[in-house]
Amino acid sequence: MARTLDDVVAEGVAGRRVLVRSDLNVPLDGSTITDDGRIRASVPTIRALASAGARVVVTAHLGRPKGAPEDRYSLRPVATRLGELLDAPVAFASDTVGDSARATVDGLADGQVAVLENVRFNPGETSKDESERAAFADQLAALADVFVSDGFGVVHRKQASVYDVAQRLPHAMGGLVAAEVEVLKRLTETPERPYVVVLGGSKVSDKLGVIDNLLGKADQLLIGGGMVFTFLAAQGHQVGTSLLEADQLDTCRDYLRRAEETGVQILLPGDVVVDTAFPSGDRTPQPQVVASSAMPEDAMGLDIGPAAAADFAAALRGARTVFWNGPMGVFEVPEFCDGTRVVAQALTEVEGLSVVGGGDSAAAVRGLGFDEASFGHISTGGGASLEYLEGKALPGITVLED
Ligand code: ADP
Ligand code: MG
Repeated sequence: MARTLDDVVAEGVAGRRVLVRSDLNVPLDGSTITDDGRIRASVPTIRALASAGARVVVTAHLGRPKGAPEDRYSLRPVATRLGELLDAPVAFASDTVGDSARATVDGLADGQVAVLENVRFNPGETSKDESERAAFADQLAALADVFVSDGFGVVHRKQASVYDVAQRLPHAMGGLVAAEVEVLKRLTETPERPYVVVLGGSKVSDKLGVIDNLLGKADQLLIGGGMVFTFLAAQGHQVGTSLLEADQLDTCRDYLRRAEETGVQILLPGDVVVDTAFPSGDRTPQPQVVASSAMPEDAMGLDIGPAAAADFAAALRGARTVFWNGPMGVFEVPEFCDGTRVVAQALTEVEGLSVVGGGDSAAAVRGLGFDEASFGHISTGGGASLEYLEGKALPGITVLED
């Protein structure tokens, strides 16, 4: 069992430097945060430590910089937002483990919070070379006395600030990671039935693995988003210019066959919304509803159709447990957000446990104006929750268990 945040606080953290790995990877438009959900989810652990008198040093990443500083991926606006949410000043170090980081940490008083610059500005963070990662983890660990792992969105990554640093400091599981794991346990161990899983989004090959495991667990799988076109193609339909992972066609065929054998229903949309070009700023979208078995050659599927959305909502109506990952369409464009909206609405009406997982899915339900409280749980981690549901061990969690 991993030690918990409560354990750390009970042992006394006043005056101690606590390194917290948070997930502050929020969507930005320039330097404007368009969805601060992950920052808000990180606040309780940070606040608990600060209230107990710890000198809290937050490390996190933003976007996918290539191991070197890039202005557009600076965590500075995120640190500012964190300060607003904590209602307390938050110091910001302009590097992660350099002079600024050391001076900032040295300058912290008990109960104060600092954020270090984007941990992925350092090549050691994500390096596959163990020694390179270890050297960077040594530098991070030197800034603190205790490590608290609270970045659920990254616990499936064997990275320096997630994994290696935990081997170098007394460590504990943060409150957010503990809460996420608790919900995932309910989904994997004793889901109330019917258990319906809705999958969509664009990271098709990333997500296909979870289906393997779910075929033995869920009663029904509803598939939308970009992922659906590989399934439709596997059934022999022509999918125009839609997102298609040609090397996964056999995998999809295998899933469809196994679903039939095991009595799990895979529901694919009977209609889809298409357009002749991927939506971009300089062109007005021209949505058109077509049967998914009759997609025009020059069109791209960008949302599930209205009949499919109604079918999905009906399937969700009887469910007692629902896990949803991945938007049903390109929800960022109003013309293609209806499928996602209808599914989100249906989830709010589920009597039982409804879980939304995935950065974009969570941003979608908030962006479409749904009240977070009307879902059972909104997970901050897409990849991490999927890997957990796949039955994989998450390195950032197992490392806390020794
Ligand atoms: P999450 O972050 O919730 O795990 P993903 O990152 O897999 O979800 O996918 C989110 C993205 O999928 C969104 O940006 C959305 O525009 C895109 N998407 C959804 N449906 C389609 C589609 N039919 N074609 C292309 N992209 C799609
Ligand atoms: Mg995403």
